[in-house]
Amino acid sequence: MSDIKTHNHFKPGKHKGVLPVRVLQHNIIDWFEQSYPDFLADAKHEIQSGGLKQGIQYHEEQAPIVHTAGIDPSKAIHLYEPFIQFVWCNCYAMVVGFEEGILTPMNNGTYKGVMAFTDEVKGALQVFRYGLSLTKRYQPMSLSLPNPEQYHDDLRPRIENANGVCVAALNFILLHEFGHQYYGHLDARPSSPAESKRREHDCDEFACEKLQAQFGSHKGRTLKLGAICGSASIVLLDDSLSGGQEHPDPDERLSNVLGWLCLDSTDSYWGIASFMYRLWSIHYEKPYTLPPVVDDFQAMFNATSAAISQLKMGG
Ligand SMILES: [Zn+2]
Repeated sequence: MSDIKTHNHFKPGKHKGVLPVRVLQHNIIDWFEQSYPDFLADAKHEIQSGGLKQGIQYHEEQAPIVHTAGIDPSKAIHLYEPFIQFVWCNCYAMVVGFEEGILTPMNNGTYKGVMAFTDEVKGALQVFRYGLSLTKRYQPMSLSLPNPEQYHDDLRPRIENANGVCVAALNFILLHEFGHQYYGHLDARPSSPAESKRREHDCDEFACEKLQAQFGSHKGRTLKLGAICGSASIVLLDDSLSGGQEHPDPDERLSNVLGWLCLDSTDSYWGIASFMYRLWSIHYEKPYTLPPVVDDFQAMFNATSAAISQLKMGG
């Protein structure tokens, strides 16, 4: 029991911030800087000629999630620690919950449409609930939950996997913000809500297009799942499925991102995206029904997506 090796990645001189996700801040910057082959040249150009502020402003505010990530009118890119922690929790819950609760029972022939409640799945759901709690109030994350800072060796593969997906999710989100700069969006206010939504759509597409250069590399699968979990995190922020006046609806953004990733219809990533809606539905108590049998994971997502659209229309 007590002789299980414990990892602790926090280094006081190196990591600023208060939540366990602080240990990933340098990885997030590293991956962002390696987003695509010409990124550093493009960033240099934007800094020298486009007024982009150098670096990422990392905010360690001990408050509920108000800000996600963004680029401000002075062209500085911001990241907020509670939101990053929220994204990490979603990545962990989506991947572990889906693999242990759905995929493993499917592969064993024991899946009957209901999530298996193993200890791993229960842990994933606790992590998920903590992440969601940050949308309402700030509280520290208990290190007894799976977390990126301190954990026993037996959890290491799951934590490291979630870390990679979370860093990739932030890569997608930061590239979206960089896209606003790249397209000159900060230089003129959008003329209408439709124009604002088109810009957001274009920046999502920009991020996916730029990441495509690495889809064939060893990071490719992680980058794809990151784009999914990053987009899914926007869906999970509340029960509205609405992007308001400025953003396209988050469920539509997620569907677009999935389309840009060129996934095979049998790819389990469709299943992970569907599983996110299951978590959303349970948390916000918005039930929907699905056909009992579908052909593959893409069909599962399409059925889920249709059910979500029905919910939005009040059906
Ligand atoms: Zn945006």
